[in-house]
Amino acid sequence: MFKLKLLIAKILPKKLLKVSKSNYRKFRGLVFNQIYKGKEVYCPCCNRNFSRFMPFKYEKGFNNDERFKYTFKNTTCPFCYSMPRHRIVCFYFNQIKGTLKQYSFPILMIGAEHAIELWLKQNNIPFTTADLYDKTADIELDIQQMPFQDKTWSLIICNHVLEHVPNFEKSMKELKRVLKDDGIIEISSPTDKTLSSMIEDTTTISHEERIQKFGQFDHMRIFGKDFNKQIENTGFLAELIKGDELPFNIGGVVGPANYDDNTIYICRKKIS
Ligand SMILES: [Zn+2]
Repeated sequence: MFKLKLLIAKILPKKLLKVSKSNYRKFRGLVFNQIYKGKEVYCPCCNRNFSRFMPFKYEKGFNNDERFKYTFKNTTCPFCYSMPRHRIVCFYFNQIKGTLKQYSFPILMIGAEHAIELWLKQNNIPFTTADLYDKTADIELDIQQMPFQDKTWSLIICNHVLEHVPNFEKSMKELKRVLKDDGIIEISSPTDKTLSSMIEDTTTISHEERIQKFGQFDHMRIFGKDFNKQIENTGFLAELIKGDELPFNIGGVVGPANYDDNTIYICRKKIS
């Protein structure tokens, strides 16, 4: 299925791919919205209630099955397909909506995420999406070398990107460069709390080894319980928003993989 998706994305022109994706999501959302009708859980991304969240369908052969064994259920929104981390972000954005609306420059979202896009659209907040591989993103860019002037953006959203890039420190330095002095970066990445610190391998190793070591065929690293310190070492102060401190009905604790401990890091520049 994953290979088929990649092939379709490769063949279709950008505009057609965008329209097809959007129509497919609308259709899928309307069907599951009926199946999961109820009031028990709430998704702040699409602002809808459901009887429960759906199981997450991970890609066999591309992910480490063991990491999903106990934590993939009750994770995915039936309408917008948000995962817990997206719902934590939108829950937080609801709290700072007034500030977001005042930003003079659009928000930069690295790695287009549909559920967060939906929240931004519903709240009339302009944003730009950027990705190195996703053809439907507005801008094609490498986070390690971005085509923006210094201090351009007020808010950068960077979910599950830093585990893919060859150089973590270089990426953080670049994020800091393009962020305004009073701006914020929202970060989340796979974090294995059984590890005291990050492990990485940026050499050429096989997909199978990456799946075994880091959980997914294209992950270069996995962060440990000192992730906030690592962020701080690159010149930021990190405020942690933890899923287990949020309302129970948004389902934001662990999952879909066991390394998704669902904490988001709100990072502000250390001004010396
Ligand atoms: Zn939703």
